[in-house]
Amino acid sequence: MERYTSQQLMEIEHKFGAHNYHPLEVVISKAEGIWVEDPEGRRYIDMLSAYSAVNQGHRHPAVIQALKDQADVLTLTSRAFFNDRWPLFARKLAGLTGKDMILPMNTGAEAVETAIKTMRKWGYLVKKVAADKAEIIVFSENFHGRTTTIVSFSTDPEGHDFYGPYTPGFKIVPYDDLQAVEKAVNKNTVGILVEPIQGEAGVVVPTPGFLAGLGRIARKHNVLLAVDEIQTGFCRTGKLFAYQYEDVDPDIIIMGKALGGGVFPVSAIAANEDVLGVFKPGTHGSTFGGNPLACAVAVAAIDVLIDEKLAERAAENGAYFMEKLRELQKKSDKIKLVRGKGLLIGLVLKKSAGKARQYTTALKERGLLCKETHDWIIRFAPPLVISKADIDFAMEKVREVLG
Ligand SMILES: *Cc1c(COP(=O)(O)O)cnc(C)c1O
Repeated sequence: MERYTSQQLMEIEHKFGAHNYHPLEVVISKAEGIWVEDPEGRRYIDMLSAYSAVNQGHRHPAVIQALKDQADVLTLTSRAFFNDRWPLFARKLAGLTGKDMILPMNTGAEAVETAIKTMRKWGYLVKKVAADKAEIIVFSENFHGRTTTIVSFSTDPEGHDFYGPYTPGFKIVPYDDLQAVEKAVNKNTVGILVEPIQGEAGVVVPTPGFLAGLGRIARKHNVLLAVDEIQTGFCRTGKLFAYQYEDVDPDIIIMGKALGGGVFPVSAIAANEDVLGVFKPGTHGSTFGGNPLACAVAVAAIDVLIDEKLAERAAENGAYFMEKLRELQKKSDKIKLVRGKGLLIGLVLKKSAGKARQYTTALKERGLLCKETHDWIIRFAPPLVISKADIDFAMEKVREVLG
């Protein structure tokens, strides 16, 4: 294989790749566990985990083995036929979520689209909402993906603007405001779509009781509650799913990212039969959804989360990391606030500190790969296999840059 330097690769990408991202200036060509490496052999700790898609760590041996074993026997059938992997993945994920049924897709946005279609169809067929009147309540600063329907209810101008005409049927209310939700519900409301923690908004953690309150409102008004656990799920926040911190039983659980174990796009929604039963043959689907390779990988990815107790580790090491960051906050004139749950941590900079990008760049030069969200928040979300010693090492670098 031809070898290129980081500089050359960045130039080639800039010329031939569309500029829909603004990456940190580092090229990753190798990875293992929490570590990534560039073509020049410089090593970095991954503090982003591909937006929480690599919770199990890069190239976890059990996940890679499942990928290789499955690649040797069967990769794609489409759902026109049964295959011998999808049934077992469906049963496993149903057991894990405590729901009756699973509908598999590939990317997170597709799973969100599936949840939207489920809520609407349930609204028309079960709740008997008048044709084309269904409304779904969503929250300002949400992030649920990039399709035209999903960006229709984004409040972020960068993600939203110039993609109209927009899909109607969404009512946007402030996050963490139960009264606003209660006021927004009407006879046409079929669902509430919520992130248990708003990751892309900058790790915004709602007041305790918010999700449980949404659950009560949903019950009271015969509305479905869909939690988008694409980023918060699979142990990231210290529990299998972030909604489990509250006394709530969502009707639809939307999953993606770490379900693919960091190697493959796998997404799904889980719901009970009275909800997912609205789909009949031909009414929804995906060529690659439920493909054997994805299913084998996802089963292995789930097993790793359970076998290696990654929820407990995220809870414990996340608390440790956050405590260290808060100690630094007391001494630093740059840090306004540290917030998060488990290993999903947002560090909010003071306005006087300037833009986050200069700090993520300085951290990169010291071997920590973090990504800013907005101009003033730095997210720390390492693979969940990170150890306390690794966190101590990372904290030395964070102190150098933000102390
Ligand atoms: C990443 C993300 C999505 C979209 O997932 P894609 O795989 O990028 O389509 C949706 N919701 C949340 C909360 C996410 O973090």
